[in-house]
Amino acid sequence: ALLGLGPGAGAPSCPHGPALLFVKTSQEKEGGRRFYACSACRDRKDCNFFQWEDEKVSETRLAAREEYNRNHQPSLTHRQNVERYQNFVLLPLSKRRFCQECQQLLLPEEWEKHLDHQFLCDISTAQLKSPSQLLYPLENKKTNAQYLFADRSCQFLLKLFTDLGFRRVLSVGTPRLHEMIQSKASQEEDFRIRSLLLDIDFRYSQFYTEDEFCHYNMFNDYFFGGEAARETCRKFLSEDNDERVIMVTDPPFGGLVEALASSFKKLMTMWKEAGKEDHDNKEMPMFWIFPYFFESRILDFFPSFSMMDYQVDYDNHALYKHGKKGRRQSPVRIFTNLTPSMIVLPVEEGYRFCTICQRYVSSGNQHCEICNSCTSKDGRPWKHCMLCKKCVKPSWFHCSNCNCCALQNHICEQTDAACFVCGKAGHKRSACPSLSHT
Ligand code: SAH
Ligand code: ZN
Ligand code: ZN
Ligand code: ZN
Ligand code: ZN
Repeated sequence: ALLGLGPGAGAPSCPHGPALLFVKTSQEKEGGRRFYACSACRDRKDCNFFQWEDEKVSETRLAAREEYNRNHQPSLTHRQNVERYQNFVLLPLSKRRFCQECQQLLLPEEWEKHLDHQFLCDISTAQLKSPSQLLYPLENKKTNAQYLFADRSCQFLLKLFTDLGFRRVLSVGTPRLHEMIQSKASQEEDFRIRSLLLDIDFRYSQFYTEDEFCHYNMFNDYFFGGEAARETCRKFLSEDNDERVIMVTDPPFGGLVEALASSFKKLMTMWKEAGKEDHDNKEMPMFWIFPYFFESRILDFFPSFSMMDYQVDYDNHALYKHGKKGRRQSPVRIFTNLTPSMIVLPVEEGYRFCTICQRYVSSGNQHCEICNSCTSKDGRPWKHCMLCKKCVKPSWFHCSNCNCCALQNHICEQTDAACFVCGKAGHKRSACPSLSHT
């Protein structure tokens, strides 16, 4: 198991920006050897950057690395892509092609090079306005894990932001939400919300200008477009004319909560510093969309956050579809620093307001008299264990051996190290009871 330590000062860079410092925790002796590896790609196949922390790197190797990093940037710049788009929209429908293999809008003079590729014809304005439908989702589990919001969840988020009076949405890794906002803004005159997309998927630069999209790595807070791109983000966060900002993020679930939290704190600081008004005691409003079993990890870094019961659904993720009875329920939730009672969840989907907890909860979430709260995390009714002095999953039983509740067929074994997923001692990540539903 690897443990992200956050980008260190003077960290070396790979094509994805400054590398992160890791330590091999599986090693027997304390303080295993530390090394740098790519922040964005957890699969060595996608980026094989590796360097021991104490390794001496020669000048020649440094120079070679710099050249390698330059050569591994996208072949077209964002500016070039914006210019191509401007030319593309001038073309008649019959000349608008999109190469599915290269994931690229084609200009007529380039057709020849792509003749033996699969391509789509007659790309309409509507299609250009929903690039997340045109591009195929990158499903590489370890790197991109692009799971797109189901329409129901996307509409819900947008309506919530509208009702709460937000005017600007910083969309970090939420291309589908960004695209819904952008297309509404261009179609409905009285729709006043704007969005800036930060994402590592550079394909989106074909559809959005530099004011609408920044090529960004959320694991190390790296703007590929340099200071100019960072400045775009800062300006967006500066709230002129009282336009309140909220940040929304839906990162890949592969872990590295620590690295994500560190980047999000930097974005919060940017907001604080950019604000003309006194933001001293305030935090930038934020929605962090993530599975419920990361709750304790997220709260470690953001104690002001709380988890909402709303189940976020995805289009291309069979497991994460909204649960009717008998179907699997989505484990993905919203973590936010907004006051829970303000987050109104749809009553028609069974959510109800608990007046004691002062928040909306899912229909199966019962208020426990002993805990004095609505304790279910996964939507099923949980049961109170008198010995553990807390509510536990309905499928758990109290194990007198482990002295806590667990699945009936669990193996009683003790490990000292805290679990990477839930932060509790007594089991490893692979055996985390939080993950037992998958
Ligand atoms: N549900 C969202 C998509 C979430 S999938 C929606 O429908 O809009 C995760 C997103 O994070 C993808 O868009 C992916 O490209 C992006 N992403 C993955 N790794 C990233 C990184 N290191 N930095 C920034 N964005 C990243
Ligand atoms: Zn309650
Ligand atoms: Zn209880
Ligand atoms: Zn118990
Ligand atoms: Zn665990």
